[in-house]
Amino acid sequence: MQQQSRARTYVVYLGLGSSLGDRATNLQNAVNGMHNQSDGACIAIEAVSQVYESPHMGLAFTDSETYPAHLNAVIRISTNLEPELLLNAIHNVEQLGGRERTLHWGPRTIDIDILLIDDMVIDTARLTVPHPGILHRPFVLLPLADVAPKIWLASGETVESAVQRIMTERPIIRRTADAISNPGMAGRM
Ligand code: AMP
Repeated sequence: MQQQSRARTYVVYLGLGSSLGDRATNLQNAVNGMHNQSDGACIAIEAVSQVYESPHMGLAFTDSETYPAHLNAVIRISTNLEPELLLNAIHNVEQLGGRERTLHWGPRTIDIDILLIDDMVIDTARLTVPHPGILHRPFVLLPLADVAPKIWLASGETVESAVQRIMTERPIIRRTADAISNPGMAGRM
């Protein structure tokens, strides 16, 4: 009997960050870019977090001359792309977003990280999933809690309890008035 092969659908959380130029527009362009895949790849934007601002790691908002503050958000997507192909798609979107870096760990127009792919654990030369920064980064956990408060992390906490934990450390982070729209919802009633 012939086996029918059916493409798998992955639910993926992506972290978006920008610290150069029109940061809110850079985040919106990245979401639009993920939505507008041209080569038959299917990426559906399912949820978009609020936008958060925090100073470059270890600095204050007032130190923003060399290392400007970052805007961050998280989106949930579903996709038929295998993880490494998704990483390629992300790199294309980053390139289109005019990603440039003048300093290591320095300002960047757009950075897109794969935070989680279902319950998968990946450790290859190109890809580490879950992303190792999730548990320690307020600018990842707060927006992740907007779109997935109840999911479990490798630490044995839900995202919302990880947020409670990290807020006791009084991180410098604030929600902004920026709103990213979901291009997949355009025109829907
Ligand atoms: P970055 O400087 O954050 O853009 O990351 C640079 C490299 O990290 C990429 O070229 C990826 O190959 C690698 N990488 C490893 N794990 C991940 C992940 N979970 N999400 C995105 N990039 C990753």
